[in-house]
Amino acid sequence: MAPTVAIIGAGFGGLCMAIQLRRAGITTFTVFEKAGGLGGTWRDNTYPGAACDVPSHLYSYSFEQHRGWTRRYPAQPELLAYLEHCADKYGVRPHLRLNTEVTAAAFDESADRWLVTTADGERRPFDVVVSGVGQLNRPRLPDIPGMSSFQGRSFHSARWDHGHDLAGRRVAVIGNGSSAAQFIPRVAAIAGHLDVYQRTPNWVIPKVGEVYGERQRSAFRYVPFLQAADRERIFRFLETVIFPALVDGWSRGLVARRAKEHLERQVTDPVLRAKLTPGYPIGCKRIVIDNDFYPALTRPNVDVVTDPIARVVPGGVETAGGTVREADTLIYATGFHSTDFLAPIEITGRDGHLLHEVWKGGAEAYLGIAVPRFPNLFLLYGPNTNIGHNSIIFMIESQVRYIMGCLPLLRAHGPMEVRPAAMDGWRRALDAAMARTAWTANCDSWYKNDAGKVTNNWPRPTTVYRRITRAPRREAYRFG
Ligand code: NAP
Repeated sequence: MAPTVAIIGAGFGGLCMAIQLRRAGITTFTVFEKAGGLGGTWRDNTYPGAACDVPSHLYSYSFEQHRGWTRRYPAQPELLAYLEHCADKYGVRPHLRLNTEVTAAAFDESADRWLVTTADGERRPFDVVVSGVGQLNRPRLPDIPGMSSFQGRSFHSARWDHGHDLAGRRVAVIGNGSSAAQFIPRVAAIAGHLDVYQRTPNWVIPKVGEVYGERQRSAFRYVPFLQAADRERIFRFLETVIFPALVDGWSRGLVARRAKEHLERQVTDPVLRAKLTPGYPIGCKRIVIDNDFYPALTRPNVDVVTDPIARVVPGGVETAGGTVREADTLIYATGFHSTDFLAPIEITGRDGHLLHEVWKGGAEAYLGIAVPRFPNLFLLYGPNTNIGHNSIIFMIESQVRYIMGCLPLLRAHGPMEVRPAAMDGWRRALDAAMARTAWTANCDSWYKNDAGKVTNNWPRPTTVYRRITRAPRREAYRFG
């Protein structure tokens, strides 16, 4: 009998797991998705200009290459359509339980299985639980005094209000990360006035070869080798040029120079340029990859406000200097609860151990996949598996392959639980590699928890991760 598997989340990770189970002939699984549709981040983030800044020849499943992308960096609807296509092609739909939020999962030691509880009160047993909830699924609103007093319309970038016409309005955007950089040019083009509240400037590098010409698209469509070669070229470039820039390697100066040139070319006003110049090492925060962000900030109807925000008032935003800047629309581009992995699901392992208690000092997992005391629980895009330079789909596929390798083991020997010694070894290796990265420098980022520990990122090349997750090492686990 094949193990029964509960997959939580139907984004890129959960779908990949489901597809590989189907491909292996295993149909004893259910994908629980709290929203009304699949797609995860590519369903939630519909803000104007939403697109992936990793080229899609790479940002797509290796086993389902699509040769018809209309652009190098396709927009959100095209990525969502790709995921819908994958769910159909690989027969995942009958396994989807949409509008079904998993609220708890508890390991029942008497029966060696997980009991998965959903918001509608249903409780079902499964041999294995795979989390595909990812790192960026819960929008984070800031904690600014007076937010509830605002009398205009306000919303988070990942919950865009498409019914609210921004034409001619006075808009305030709080935040200037990758999401804001993508929608600010679109908003600036129609708003009457736009204030961008910037707390920390970002390093911005240009997108290269953004648009495919007709001939290029035909070539990719009809000569499969060209698409595969492009995928390989992008992967190698990101691994050998961009990754070293994040670990104090040979290209750090080069990439920083490229970013400075981009700023100098696109922003000629020295005052604005100074505001936009970061004061921390490149890569410490996620690098923004965009061609339209800086030009939007130079428009006459746009102001970059760097005075700290004191409070939100009914008619706008008051800065620390006491100036009230009017706004009728407030957009929070303030990111996600990225370090609260798996929250708010209550996960209970052996001996009543609660995952959020175990992770009080910061989330961690062996290979980013397995946690001591939580047998047969596997994480996709878990702690320390995010990357700042390449396609997360590559990491997810490594994890899914690893979990597929675990299934015959746990079937033969009983529930598998990673040994604390394996976890300790993993932690030591991770800490040593992490010390060399730009993420540990003096900046705040969504990669770090409140204590300053980098809980989200993988500090070595993705090829190393793929190698070490090739197959489970039996000695790292105890069984039964
Ligand atoms: P983010 O990078 O976490 O940015 C949040 C922004 O909000 C920052 O500018 C932050 O300022 C600001 N902020 C937060 N609290 C604030 C406060 N109280 N007052 C003032 N400013 C405040 O979030 P994001 O832009 O949504 O991006 C998250 C991640 O999603 C990205 O880094 C990327 O990995 C992913 N993403 C990817 C793509 C893609 O194309 N692949 C596109 C969009 C997003 P500080 O910097 O000062 O903290």
